[in-house]
Amino acid sequence: MAKRVAASPAESAIAAVVGPLEFAHPERIPKFEQVIESAAERAAAGAVPRELREALRSVRDAFRKPLGEAERRAAALRALALLSPFAGADYAARALAQSPRVLAGLGPRRAAQLAKRDMSTVEDLLYRLPAGYDDRRSLASLGSLPVGARVTFAARVLGSAYAGWRGRGARGGRMFEATLGDETGTVQLKWFRGGEAIEKIVRKGALLLVTGDVKRYKYDKEIQHPEIELLAEPGAEAEEPPKRIVPRYATTEGVHPRALRRAVAQAVADYADLVTGRLPEKLAAQRRLPSPADALRALHAPAQDADLDALAAAATPAHERLILEELYLLELGLALRHDLKHRAQGIAMRSDGPRLRAALRGLPFALTGAQQRAWRELAADLAQPHPMSRLLEGDVGSGKTVIAYLAAVAVAESGHQTALLAPTELLAEQHHRTLRQLVGGGPLCVELFTASAAPGHAENIRSELARGGIDVAVGTHALLQDTVAFRSRGLVVVDEQHRFGVRQRAVLRGAGDDGAQPHMLVMTATPIPRTLAMTLHGDLDLTVLDELPAGRLPVRTLLARPGEGREVLRLLQETVARGEQAYVVYPLIEESEKSDLRAASESAQRIASALPNTRVDLLHGRLETAARQAAMARFEAGETQVLVSTTVVEVGVDVANATLMIVENAERFGLAQLHQLRGRVGRGRKAGTCVLVARGAGEGSEARLAAMLATPDGFAIAEADLRIRGPGDFLGTRQHGRLPDLRIADLVRDRNWLAVARDAARATVARDPGLRGDPALRAAVRARWGGSLDLAEVG
Ligand code: ADP
Ligand code: MG
Repeated sequence: MAKRVAASPAESAIAAVVGPLEFAHPERIPKFEQVIESAAERAAAGAVPRELREALRSVRDAFRKPLGEAERRAAALRALALLSPFAGADYAARALAQSPRVLAGLGPRRAAQLAKRDMSTVEDLLYRLPAGYDDRRSLASLGSLPVGARVTFAARVLGSAYAGWRGRGARGGRMFEATLGDETGTVQLKWFRGGEAIEKIVRKGALLLVTGDVKRYKYDKEIQHPEIELLAEPGAEAEEPPKRIVPRYATTEGVHPRALRRAVAQAVADYADLVTGRLPEKLAAQRRLPSPADALRALHAPAQDADLDALAAAATPAHERLILEELYLLELGLALRHDLKHRAQGIAMRSDGPRLRAALRGLPFALTGAQQRAWRELAADLAQPHPMSRLLEGDVGSGKTVIAYLAAVAVAESGHQTALLAPTELLAEQHHRTLRQLVGGGPLCVELFTASAAPGHAENIRSELARGGIDVAVGTHALLQDTVAFRSRGLVVVDEQHRFGVRQRAVLRGAGDDGAQPHMLVMTATPIPRTLAMTLHGDLDLTVLDELPAGRLPVRTLLARPGEGREVLRLLQETVARGEQAYVVYPLIEESEKSDLRAASESAQRIASALPNTRVDLLHGRLETAARQAAMARFEAGETQVLVSTTVVEVGVDVANATLMIVENAERFGLAQLHQLRGRVGRGRKAGTCVLVARGAGEGSEARLAAMLATPDGFAIAEADLRIRGPGDFLGTRQHGRLPDLRIADLVRDRNWLAVARDAARATVARDPGLRGDPALRAAVRARWGGSLDLAEVG
């Protein structure tokens, strides 16, 4: 057999039989028959499939007694032939990929039911970890059943009957009801369906083991649809019920909990030892982790003395093993992708030329420490002959744009061009203005290119780009159209990448596939916890701007309820009186676009009439580009004092004199959005105020508003967002199409382990680029990632 890095218990056990059988001189092995017999016996005792167990047993039987030399050779050849289907490297993978139909006691009908619920292979069943555990080690007494808790008890059936039930309205029907009792009290069991099957077991006098959730019903306690097990027929002597911890699996419609439990138990009994660990042996040993097979057993069939709290918290060594296994394959895929990118041909830029030095000198402010660090990292990347792929993560207002500007100068100085992409035209316009300001009278040529540019103008820009007359083109994804040719695109900067559509993102990723690839800088103001960011953007290197420019005052955040409009108006008045400006933002929801727009324009009129000497503008997404630009320009120039708008100001808008942000219907905004909006004020040296006007309670809205009041810190806000929404929803769109679905690990709960897995994966890929030395591991990564990892390029 080929040498393998890691082996499953079954594989090692088979090797212990096959090894001596393949030995050319069996006569030189003392007690050869005995060696084979006991190795086969041991292997057959493992958690392996029936057909393998049977093959091993017949090998064992063939070597029961000492054999003559010729007989021995013949028996060895027969045994090798018998075991050869199981000795291949891919046997385990094939066996685990079979339908659960192969499990004893599981027919095609049940297998089909399971397949419909994402359990179409034996492996799926193995990794279907319990959602919880029932402690059946100690039984409850009926006299003291705790309402609201899940309990297990043993009790006799005192009586049972069908009864009618009425619910609210016209709802009602027939149910099967039983009263059970022990020496201490009674309880009602109820089944609203399936009474016919239950009736046969729940007979008067039968002793049942019952597990379920206790509810109060009038003066009684009841359990609906409990799990029951017959301990003794009516009249028969009671057996002591087994004291166990019983796994509870997430119930899925159409599959009975007990049937699922049995199927999983059978899968563990017959297949667990086929599971191969992929983690580096050293890491597993350091962390004292059980093998995956033992881990599966520990979770599906916990020992009597298992730590239930640790089990419930997914914090046992068994959890750690399985979760690390999963995260390691995930991180290996990312590490391979990352490694691949960094090997591609790129353009080395000079990052210390006179133009760059002049640009640094000419900045209107001193870079923060974080900006200096970020620039050093970027400059080092740009100087490499391989494409950079870096994520610049920084809270709102942390000053990302200036970093992009410096990179663009370095690229221009090296004779190449930069494309800066924003998700919306408004944002592109904003970036264009910011860059022009930074450039000042300098020699960098910056142009705006969006879908709504006038045809003649667009044509001009196209030809200038192709000629190399433009250094930086700022625009939306329109910039990536085939019809836009750069003379030499050396850098692509993408702002708020997650807000681009899936198709546009594919284009971004493919940018510059021909020949030398451009450097890529992705910027985001959505601060997500670092380890999480490193995985979600695992193929990117990460730079975090964790410092705001000096002198920024934290934005004061206030909550206003209906009826407090006067207060809000007063704030507005005071702000304007100080010569400062204000935003009033309304949510815009697709279906009710019109009415929301109405609310915004009514508000603009109301403010204009309440504050006579104040100029108010209305900005919304339906305005023509020119009108929108004009409104923005008036606000920036201070010609208007109040900008009433729909969420188009959400990200990127930067007017230092604006100090008041009023968010109407704040309960309708997501937490990240609220934080972005708040970030529009307090950007200069003047203190900012953000008023959240809550007009109703949306789902989770109170928690979001509370988080906004509690902290100005974007990372803390992101953590809160995660808590409120849960990882699935929080990560949903960001993760889309980039990562494989996780079976057991949870990127948020398990983020410490994520870091461990990531370090291990990067080390593995550094040692063995492309995993060429370990085809089995590479196959496992590929299998885990399915189509979402293009390892074809990896080889
Ligand atoms: P964001 O990270 O949100 O994109 P910007 O790049 O738009 O932040 O910068 C926010 C504001 O802070 C801009 O007005 C910018 O000119 C200013 N700024 C950036 N860096 C500094 C700095 N080091 N010192 C002072 N102001 C800065
Ligand atoms: Mg920005």
